[in-house]
Amino acid sequence: MQGPLENLEQWEDFVQKRYDPARKSEEFRRHDDTHAVVREFYRLNHTYQTRAFVQEQKRQYLALDRRRMGIWEAMEYLNALVDDSDPDTDLSQIEHLLQTAEAIRRDGRPRWFILAGLVHDLGKILCLWGEPQWAVVGDTFPVGCAWSPKIVYHEFFAGNPDSNVPEYQTRLGVYEEGCGLDKVDLSWGHDEYLYHVVKPYLPEEALYMIRYHSFYPAHQDGEYAWFMNGHDRAMFEWVRAFNPYDLYSKSAARPDVTEVRPFYEELIAEYFPPVLRW
Ligand code: FE
Ligand code: FE
Repeated sequence: MQGPLENLEQWEDFVQKRYDPARKSEEFRRHDDTHAVVREFYRLNHTYQTRAFVQEQKRQYLALDRRRMGIWEAMEYLNALVDDSDPDTDLSQIEHLLQTAEAIRRDGRPRWFILAGLVHDLGKILCLWGEPQWAVVGDTFPVGCAWSPKIVYHEFFAGNPDSNVPEYQTRLGVYEEGCGLDKVDLSWGHDEYLYHVVKPYLPEEALYMIRYHSFYPAHQDGEYAWFMNGHDRAMFEWVRAFNPYDLYSKSAARPDVTEVRPFYEELIAEYFPPVLRW
């Protein structure tokens, strides 16, 4: 996996701390300074996620002609990502997916909601196809318009070539007011990719959760509302409903994969064909 993070969870742990209502701002600053790798990760992400890069990644990946596999197979494939990390401290990718899904299930949410939790990070298999971390994870943000000052490490956008394109530096950029998020290109990563893989099979609420779960500037900070239409606004209630399960289920007990697998195999078969295009 091309660095600088030791594993992809480092980004998620950082996001979790950032939105922790209990943390004090000075504490966060200190935490901030000690996490040089996270900082370097954002520097790369903000420097290289240009509009042209996003469009090129979409051309490459959205043909979905890399691999054919089922959902559980993709979960096992994704698990190869953590083969080189410490098994005592790091949860495997399957465990994060199962913990998220199990937390949703415990709350008596609908079956499609549980399933969204189970699959939401499968797009991280982009890493296994040689994509660097900055093109797989990280808070997402629109490209082709001004970067919200609320985006974490906003200063690193100074190194992004799009900062020299005046057309991309206005509030609306290349888009129209209220055009709907579907028309807006977000920085490339696991969310957008997985959305296209599962699009034919899941209800819209689940698709919004998957597609926008890393769009923290919008679902947590309320930015970019000017691109949303009424449908986006309604669906973002679901994106926000999903977020705590993603962020805060990690402290739960480690799931017994063998025990819960039959439930999830059945749930997968209810919505997905045995083999999907990736
Ligand atoms: Fe994710
Ligand atoms: Fe996640």
